[in-house]
Amino acid sequence: MIFLDAAATTRVRREVLEAMWPYLTGDFGNPSSHHSLGETAAAALAGARASVAAALGCRPGEVTFTSGGTEADNLAVKGIALARQAANPQLNRVVISAVEHPAVEESARYLERFHGFVVDVVPVDGTGLVAPEALRAVLRPETALVSVMYANNEVGTIQPVAELAAISRHQGIPFHTDAVQAAGWLPLDVKALGIDAMSVSGHKLGAPKGCGVLFVRGRTRLEPLLHGGGQERGRRSGTENVSGAVGIATALTLTQAGQQEQRRRVAALRDTFISAVLTGVPGAVLTGHPSCRLPSVASFCFPGTSGESVLLEVERQGVVCSSGSACAAGSDAPSPVLTALGYDPGVAQTAVRFSFDSAVTAEDLAAAATALRQAVESVRALGIRPG
Ligand code: PLP
Repeated sequence: MIFLDAAATTRVRREVLEAMWPYLTGDFGNPSSHHSLGETAAAALAGARASVAAALGCRPGEVTFTSGGTEADNLAVKGIALARQAANPQLNRVVISAVEHPAVEESARYLERFHGFVVDVVPVDGTGLVAPEALRAVLRPETALVSVMYANNEVGTIQPVAELAAISRHQGIPFHTDAVQAAGWLPLDVKALGIDAMSVSGHKLGAPKGCGVLFVRGRTRLEPLLHGGGQERGRRSGTENVSGAVGIATALTLTQAGQQEQRRRVAALRDTFISAVLTGVPGAVLTGHPSCRLPSVASFCFPGTSGESVLLEVERQGVVCSSGSACAAGSDAPSPVLTALGYDPGVAQTAVRFSFDSAVTAEDLAAAATALRQAVESVRALGIRPG
C-alpha cells in the first residue's frame, strides 16, 4: 500500500514510541502524586513541556497539553473569547477565516449560539488566501479574537500568518492560529510569527492520536473548558497524559531537525507529481495556491467524476488518499473549503487530496500518478457522478 493520506494521520515514529514507553509501563505514575513514581512522571511532563517550549520559541509556562488539535482549537477560541468577554462585555465578536477546520469554526458557532457572539468570516481568494486588507475590513472595536489557520488541511494553502497577526495585534486583538497541518513543515517560532495562541496535534507528526498542545502567550486571559483538579496551571484539568506529552514533545523535536532540507526535497517531489497529474489526467484542476502551499499536499478536482469514486478506484490499485478532509470523508457533500474558494459544489464534490510524510519517494508518487490517471478514466467511463 502507498499511503498518501498523511494529512489525516501518520504512523507513530519508533523514536517517539520508545520515548513514551517508560511512562506507559514502569514509570506509570500520576504527576500529582507525592511519591517517587509521581515525581518521575512530573519530571517527564516538565521535560516534555520544556522541549515543546524550545520547539515553539516560548516559555514552558505558555504550553498547555491537550487531547489533540480539536481540544486545543476549542480551548483557544472559546477560552480566549469568553475570558475577554468576561473582562469587557462589549467584546462580543470573533473573526475566523472561511476555510477553518470545523474545530475552529464550530467553536465560533458555539459562541454565537450560547454566548451572544457575532462570528465575522473573512473571505479567501480563489487560491485559499486571506488578504490582509480583507482581515482589516472585518475587525471591530468589539472583536475579542481572530483565528486564522496557518495552513489548510484540504488544499494546503499557507496563510501569511505573521502579517495577519500583526494587523490583529496592532488593534489589541489576540490572534490564534491552528497550526495542526503546518507543524512538521513550517517554522513554529511564535515570537517570529507574532501570534498569541497556536494549536498543534500529535498524530499529524508521528506521535499518537489523542495528544496536542496549545500555546497561549504570557498574560493572555484564558477561561478553562475543563474544570476539576486544576492541572496545567488551571487551564486544563484532568490527569495529564504523560506519555502523550512526551510523545508530542519528541515528535516536534524530531520534525525540526533537518526540516528545511526535508521541505525542499518533498516540495520538489510534490511539484513533479502535480505536473504529472495536470498533464496526464485530462481536465484535472489543482486546488489551493500554486506555490504558497504545504510541501506535503497536492489536491485536485476532476470534473465529471466523483471524488469518492476516484478514491475507491485508486485504493483498488494500492494507493490510499482522501476525497477531502477526513471529517468530511464518507459524506459526498461538497467541501465548504472548496466552495469558499469559489468552486461550484458539483466540482467541489470531485476533490481528491494526496498528502505525504517526509518518507515519501519519487517512485510512490509516480505510481500514484499512474493509478490516478486510470482511476479517473474508469470513473468517467462508468459515468459515475456525485450523488
Ligand atoms: N485542525 C486542522 C487543520 C486539522 O487538519 C485537524 C485534523 O485533521 C484538526 C484541527 C483536529 O486535530 P485532531 O485530530 O488532533 O483533533
